[in-house]
Amino acid sequence: MARYDIENVTCPSCGKVFPVKVYDRIDVRRDPKLKKKVIHGTMFAEHCPYCGEKIRMVYDAMYADPTYRITIALAATDEFYKQAVKEMEKENALRSAKDDIVRDYLNEATLRIVRDDMKLAEKVLIFDNDLDDRVIELLRLVHLTSQQATNPEVTDMLFNIGQTKDGHTQMCFLPLIGRDIVNTPIVLSNLNYSRTADKYYHALEEYKESDLEVNREWAEKFFAAIDAKNTDEPENREAAG
Ligand SMILES: [Zn+2]
Repeated sequence: MARYDIENVTCPSCGKVFPVKVYDRIDVRRDPKLKKKVIHGTMFAEHCPYCGEKIRMVYDAMYADPTYRITIALAATDEFYKQAVKEMEKENALRSAKDDIVRDYLNEATLRIVRDDMKLAEKVLIFDNDLDDRVIELLRLVHLTSQQATNPEVTDMLFNIGQTKDGHTQMCFLPLIGRDIVNTPIVLSNLNYSRTADKYYHALEEYKESDLEVNREWAEKFFAAIDAKNTDEPENREAAG
């Protein structure tokens, strides 16, 4: 079973105390219903049994999906964050010391660190649909930048996969202010995704910065590295000069 403890929580609304399950390891192969809870945003939300108040409680946990070979640290606290960075960096260093054939044979899990439940839900959805979270992050930054040009109050975009009326799946970005969805979804076509994946395929293969945290900062650094490389190309320098 997934590992959990029972902790007593005090309702901030009515002050009554009730027990909740707090997981330190969310193993979704052993307990597949936990994956749905993570994706639907109910894993880290409890309803007070006395007054019905919805209480969001995000805590440190390791999400593991051995089937998809994914391990994600949900680091709610700085302490756990530092620990996760240290341990995952160590693991990645050990892996890069192995040769490619051994690495392919071992087929090790992708390691990621996120800081909140919304980002964890996104990662799980992305990997569950066989998508590359790095490509999604690049697309998000492009769409966020253009969205912010007309709506400066938009703070982020939530990646989601919905169903169309005819039953097809449809990727989209939902503009956010804080945790609230504002404006209509920005549809992301499969073609848009695959073109971006193809365009940056080699650059992503060659990019050596840490991919433990694939987020907006990661995407900004990646684009900056591409720009720097492009201005280094002699033909571009000549064109510029
Ligand atoms: Zn209550």
